[in-house]
Amino acid sequence: MVQNSRSTPLFLSPPSEKSVFLHSRNKSAYNMERPNILVIYTGGTIGMMMDPEDKALKPFEFKNIRQQLPMLDLLECDITFQSLLPLIDSSDTNPQFWLRLVDMIEAEYQNYDGFVVLHGTDTMAYTSSALSFLLENLDKPVIITGSQLPLGVLRTDGRRNILNAIGFAADRKDGRPMLNEVCLFFQTALFRGNRIYKDDAASFNAFHSPNYPHLANVGTEISYNEHCLLPKSVPGTFIAHHKMDNNVGLIKLFPGINLASMEAMLHTEGLHAVVLETFGVGNAPTSPDFLKILQEAIDRDIILVNISQCKGGGGVEMQRYATGKHLADIGVTSGSDMTTEAALTKLMYLFGEGYPLNTIRKLLKMSLRGELTENY
Ligand code: ASP
Repeated sequence: MVQNSRSTPLFLSPPSEKSVFLHSRNKSAYNMERPNILVIYTGGTIGMMMDPEDKALKPFEFKNIRQQLPMLDLLECDITFQSLLPLIDSSDTNPQFWLRLVDMIEAEYQNYDGFVVLHGTDTMAYTSSALSFLLENLDKPVIITGSQLPLGVLRTDGRRNILNAIGFAADRKDGRPMLNEVCLFFQTALFRGNRIYKDDAASFNAFHSPNYPHLANVGTEISYNEHCLLPKSVPGTFIAHHKMDNNVGLIKLFPGINLASMEAMLHTEGLHAVVLETFGVGNAPTSPDFLKILQEAIDRDIILVNISQCKGGGGVEMQRYATGKHLADIGVTSGSDMTTEAALTKLMYLFGEGYPLNTIRKLLKMSLRGELTENY
């Protein structure tokens, strides 16, 4: 049972004259009195409104966001909005896009006390996972959010998501930002960015963290699970990484999988690694033909990472059944309780960094940013 160790009242408070005029940019420490928050809009449903003439959903000018959300002025922080152009539907997200986002955050890192990224929900879990690896030793929060309904419609969930994301980005404790990791806020929960996936295309509760507790919950009070947050990093040690290698693949097993198509995929030129989505706690067919194809890929130095296709919770324990042990015996690497999103982006990051294969195999089993449970 997870204990809530700290509760705070709502973030909202009336603007004081003093805070309204505080706009200082403190380069060496955190702005404690009135944090500066940079909100980066990248596209997606959240930034749309209905055109009164043809009733179609169209992106609105984010510089006019205060007309949509006048209550932004009640938050106790200074907020700057920037767009990462061109705006995209998140289905067009890719490693180049993640690296441009990293460039933007790195360029502004000293100027702001926290970052909010507004993003389409469809691939938001990939982006939050990728950012968690690319932004190392954060001592400030990066909170990603979006919405299921556009900000410009009456029943939008975007309003609460933006206000809470900014509130979390600006929250402070003991002279430091409360959060120092990549998080995703949606509906009533703050999640670790590399522990989630989108599991609902219709509900406002669109995201699920199968194997890690919420970092905070928003109800009438805001309560943190403080013991679940990443430990504080040493200020000044932040590193932004600028490379990703997308020579990675994904094979989801199913009964009757066509071995020729699997083999063809494993022979993709330049391929470094494949996430193998297996059954249950990491089980797979035991037929010699199936195992031979995997064995040959491993012999060609392709890393195979075992991730469970069970979405509700639990991870990979290859020693539990003979059907999993076969995989361990031929050298398949356990992905523990990582999500597929985290496993794929971790591989892109590790190969981007150019580590030797043995190091990558070791790092895959280690928690670099809280993305997995070690010794699962
Ligand atoms: N297709 C949109 C996107 O992911 C959906 C959304 O924003 O929720 O960009």
